[in-house]
Order: sequence, then structure tokens, then C-alpha cells
Amino acid sequence: MIVVLNRNAEEEKKQNLMNWLKEMSVDIHISDGEYQTVLGLIGDTSKIDTDLIESLDIVEAVKRISEPFKSANRKFHPDDTVIDINGVKIGGGNFVMIAGPCSVESEEQLLDIAVKAKQAGASLLRGGAFKPRTSPYAFQGMRAEGLELLLKAKEKTGMPIVTEIMDASHLPLFDGVDVIQVGARNMQNFELLKVLGKTNKPILLKRGLSSTMQELLMSAEYIMAGGNENVILCERGIRTFETYTRNTLDVSAVPMLKELSHLPVVVDPSHATGVARMVKPMSLASAAAGADGLMIEVHNNPAKALCDGPQSLTPEQFADVANSVNKIISAL
Ligand code: PEP
Ligand code: MN
Repeated sequence: MIVVLNRNAEEEKKQNLMNWLKEMSVDIHISDGEYQTVLGLIGDTSKIDTDLIESLDIVEAVKRISEPFKSANRKFHPDDTVIDINGVKIGGGNFVMIAGPCSVESEEQLLDIAVKAKQAGASLLRGGAFKPRTSPYAFQGMRAEGLELLLKAKEKTGMPIVTEIMDASHLPLFDGVDVIQVGARNMQNFELLKVLGKTNKPILLKRGLSSTMQELLMSAEYIMAGGNENVILCERGIRTFETYTRNTLDVSAVPMLKELSHLPVVVDPSHATGVARMVKPMSLASAAAGADGLMIEVHNNPAKALCDGPQSLTPEQFADVANSVNKIISAL
């Protein structure tokens, strides 16, 4: 349920209303927008007398929310959420380019890519240290050592870093990490989501391979229910019958998620297509569809990459994509 307050609602009356609502054991989520304040009520609201609340002079409207996601719902928070990632803002018109290798492979590799990606316009550096691989015999990532290298790259370039967590027990290693990624395979690892909900770090939540948008939003809700509202949604392609591309990029998820939710939405065209030459057209389409950012895999030697070489761009190719995307952003 949401209670929309009048623009000039007196603070004392507002507090009285909130105290009364809290006595009915509901949690209140306050969204102070430019034009209105929305109180989002979470919990059992069935016993709340909506007519009574609506009759108060500080209340403009009371509405029941039918969707199962509440904190992530745009009705709870009409304005776009803007997340500040160590000085880099995403959402609410702030477009962000995230670039870097699929996996951290060595110091030279990561630093070379990081410096070039930054020059080309990336403001966040990605790189997997813990890698979710289909085969147990494939490269599993440099793990803790990879995280150390990411921190070095962050120090050298000043770029905040994004990297994937696969197990809650690894969280202490993620202290210096700016954005914790939850990969597609872990989107419904609810225990992990609950733990991340207790942190104050921005979480990049990737859509599961066969997950609906509502399931993605419910996973965001798990994180937000714990108190961490800094969730970035990521469309990274879903599994369909198509085989020419690794996944099928659901571009329509961008405007739909942005309509349903106030959270920033980024697109990962690399995993969505699995094909380097598809990354540019899909990046342009995603920007045109209203995405708040892109996450693109960049490697200094894609042919030798230990993971996802075929979908990785060279730094030069990334610079070309970033340049064209900027034209779309300024045209919008
Ligand atoms: C990744 O971003 O490195 C990754 C493994 O992506 P996904 O979880 O979308 O497959
Ligand atoms: Mn990858």
C-alpha cells in the first residue's frame, strides 16, 4: 500500500500518521520526491482502514499495490533511484559505461585493459575473480588474488570496480570492491541475496538465464528488504530456442523494468549475444531503449582470453562503441 502525502504536509501530522501506522506493525518506506512524499507500507496492510487515512487532510491518495515487489516498485518511489558509486552516479539520467575483461588473468592484462577502457570512456572497471563456469575443468578465476589485482587497478586508474560474488562466505574479501555483482546463475540464491541486503554496497543484479522480469524484481526485493536499496538491475540476455547468439537480448526489458521499478537498469550486450560484432548494434539499441548503462567485456587479446574471448571487444573496438553510444545518449 502507498500513502501519497500532500506537498505541504506538516511534519508533526506526518510523524503522527507514521507512528500510528507503525503501531499496526507495518514497515514504512519514505520516498521524498521533488513534488510529493510517498509512504510505502510493507507488511500486512489488510487491517488498515484506507478510508480513514484518505480522510486525513495531509493525505492526497491511498493505493493498494498489487505487485509482489514493493521496495523495488516505482509506485513506492516515483523518482528514478540514483546510485553513487564512489563518485560515479548511475540512474536518473546518469549513463555509465562499465568495461573490463570477463576474468582477471594477470596484473599486466588487467592494468592494460583498465587504462585503455578508461581512456575510451569507461567509468567503472569490471573483471571476474570468482568465475561461475559451466565446466569444473575450465578456468575458475584467480579468486582472492584476482580481487587484489582489481584493487591495484582501482588504485592506479581511480576507477571503481565491479566484480562477482559467488558465495556469502567470501564477503570479507569484497571490502574494497565498489559494486558487488550477483551473476545470472545466482540471481535466485536467496540466502546470498539476504546477506547482500545487510551490506551497504551497490549490487549489480543480473537477470537469471530463464528468469522473468518479475522474478528479477523479486530478487532485487530480497536485497532491498534487508535494508540495502542500492540495486542495479542488469539485462544480460535470456535463454531461448535461438542458437546463433549465446542468449537472446531482451531489449524490451529495459523500458518495462524502468516502468515497473525506479532502480537503474544496465545492459550487458556481451553475454547477451556471445558475439563481439553484435556488441555494438546491441549497445546502441540498449541506449536508445533507455538503459542507464552498459557493461561490456573488453580484452587486450580476445583470441587468448581465458574466458569469453569470442564476445570480447578490443580496447579500440570498445572506444568506437562508446563513441557511438554517446551520440545516442546526447540525441535522446
Ligand atoms: C559475467 O558478467 O562475468 C558473467 C558471468 O555473467 P552472467 O552471470 O550474466 O553469465
Ligand atoms: Mn564473461
